[in-house]
Amino acid sequence: MKTVKDYIRTIVDFPHEGILFRDVTTLFADARGFRMAVDQLLAPYAGLRIDKVAGLEARGFILGGAVAHQLSTGFVPIRKKGKLPGQTISQSYTLEYGEAVVEMHEDALQPGERVLLVDDLLATGGTAEAGIRLLERLGAEIVGCAFVVDLPDLGGRKKLEGMGMAIHTLCE
Ligand code: AMP
Repeated sequence: MKTVKDYIRTIVDFPHEGILFRDVTTLFADARGFRMAVDQLLAPYAGLRIDKVAGLEARGFILGGAVAHQLSTGFVPIRKKGKLPGQTISQSYTLEYGEAVVEMHEDALQPGERVLLVDDLLATGGTAEAGIRLLERLGAEIVGCAFVVDLPDLGGRKKLEGMGMAIHTLCE
């Protein structure tokens, strides 16, 4: 029987030479694969109170939207700078070359709301860390962080666990 990992395609040297890009579009395109990934992502949270799912742009929107629907919660996007139309709060983080900024609407959450953070892949953890900072600044209680893929050599899991986060991943 195929596992989630079997549906993920690797593209060599994208977007730069030396990168093995783990392409989840082939997972999303398959009805059984997509259902399996969403079911497995939310399995640890069954029975817990979750008020909102937050997804990291862009593949976290696809997974997070499906997870939110299944959990009957709202969904809030964590977007790249300049995309959200309302009043926002921003958080910068370092990339391999330079800096990036993610934003949330400042009224996306009420303080004390319990949030599950979702993205497709955990590498260095820089993107997720920036998302966590935004959620915490809005007063959210982060129930967990769920990813389809973990690249453990890049240290993201350790970084987020060091921040006190509970990390759930489906494959390495
Ligand atoms: P990081 O902030 O280093 O943990 O990078 C995670 C973000 O970058 C996620 O939103 C991923 O979609 C994307 N990403 C980083 N490395 C890869 C990779 N090797 N394959 C696919 N996506 C990646």
